[in-house]
Amino acid sequence: MSEGGNSLSGHSSEANASGEKDLFKNTSIIQKIKCFITKDTTVANESTKVFVVIRVLVLSVLFYFLTILCIDKAMHLLDGRGMRLSILFIAVFVWMFYMTYRLRAKYAAWMFSLGLLIFIYINLQWFGWWIGVQHFLIVILMLVFFVGYDGFPFKMGLAAAATLIRLLFYYRFHSAEAAYPIPSQMGDLLQIINTVTIFWCLSVICYVFSKSTREMEGKLVKYNEQLQRQALTDNLTGLANRRRALDYVEQILSEGQHENFSLCMCDIDFFKKVNDTWGHECGDQVLKAIAKTFKERMPRGSLPCRWGGEEFLLLFPGMNGDEANALLMTIRDKIKKMVVEYEGHEVSVTMTFGLTEFDFLKTIEDAITEADGKLYYGKEHGRDQIVF
Ligand code: GH3
Ligand code: MG
Ligand code: MG
Repeated sequence: MSEGGNSLSGHSSEANASGEKDLFKNTSIIQKIKCFITKDTTVANESTKVFVVIRVLVLSVLFYFLTILCIDKAMHLLDGRGMRLSILFIAVFVWMFYMTYRLRAKYAAWMFSLGLLIFIYINLQWFGWWIGVQHFLIVILMLVFFVGYDGFPFKMGLAAAATLIRLLFYYRFHSAEAAYPIPSQMGDLLQIINTVTIFWCLSVICYVFSKSTREMEGKLVKYNEQLQRQALTDNLTGLANRRRALDYVEQILSEGQHENFSLCMCDIDFFKKVNDTWGHECGDQVLKAIAKTFKERMPRGSLPCRWGGEEFLLLFPGMNGDEANALLMTIRDKIKKMVVEYEGHEVSVTMTFGLTEFDFLKTIEDAITEADGKLYYGKEHGRDQIVF
């Protein structure tokens, strides 16, 4: 039943002893209560969340007792024996609260469950079946289910035991005379107090025990998204990679709503010289600067991608060749005028572009080969140009 060392409060008992003192000095009452409830147990390797739940439940039951005592003060429901037993119960639950700082989680849970069971039994005897105190059995069942790492048979055994106890209580108390019969308005009030306390306890158990699962799921979803992004993004430039580009083309073609679709293959001129002259790091800076220019200049819906090395594929869905050509002229000019500062040197490059309109009757591979052919033609015929 005990759990690993992950603590709800994130505190480790010894390391935080002095830190907690400081915290107590400087914090508000609500934070002090929070510290009081979420404080680690002195037992090593125990999860704080079990103790948080048990402490909240113990406090809720204590609150319930105090309410009964207040009602009794006004209505004189209990006799001397009842009062003494109530005060004894309060003392026992206060002791239980204290013990949650000292016990292992499973013992604390069982201790609380046993105390609550006795409390249910005595309450049924005192006030009868109709104020609904028997529903605290569900709190016990849920607590023991969530706290335990026991197997299916054990938990089913527990469920069966709880069912049996509930039925035994029913036969014993549902038509029995209450020791302290209560007036009907008071019965309604106790019914409300019981319902509120029981639903509050159940909500606390569900919230705390589902919190870590929810957090873990949230982290996994984020991690998956991050992995997916990384798998589709080029590390150096942050542009889409080849896989993302092909996915995007597939998406565009499947939507089938673009009459025009242009694409361009482009390559940096004499890039090897940049690397050879200024070093690979400088070449990387140039690649990043060019990627930035593409991102800034290309409109929404179009996609620049790093096809490989110093070669880029630019996708222009919804644009015919002339429109893409006009845009590429501004991009080409911008890149030509761009100066990359590297260790006191000013580095400039030009690019050659092969632009083609996608023929929807052909495949994307055909279009890329065509754009590549035009790029090659541009390289052969002077570079620094757009071939369309
Ligand atoms: P051309 O005008 O014909 O394209 O000449 P080029 O020198 O650009 O072409 P070449 O294919 O001979 O050289 C491409 C160079 O690009 C070689 C390679 O080292 C460099 N390169 C490829 N990827 C990277 C990279 O990620 N970073 C850097 N710094 N260089 C890269
Ligand atoms: Mg090149
Ligand atoms: Mg190349």
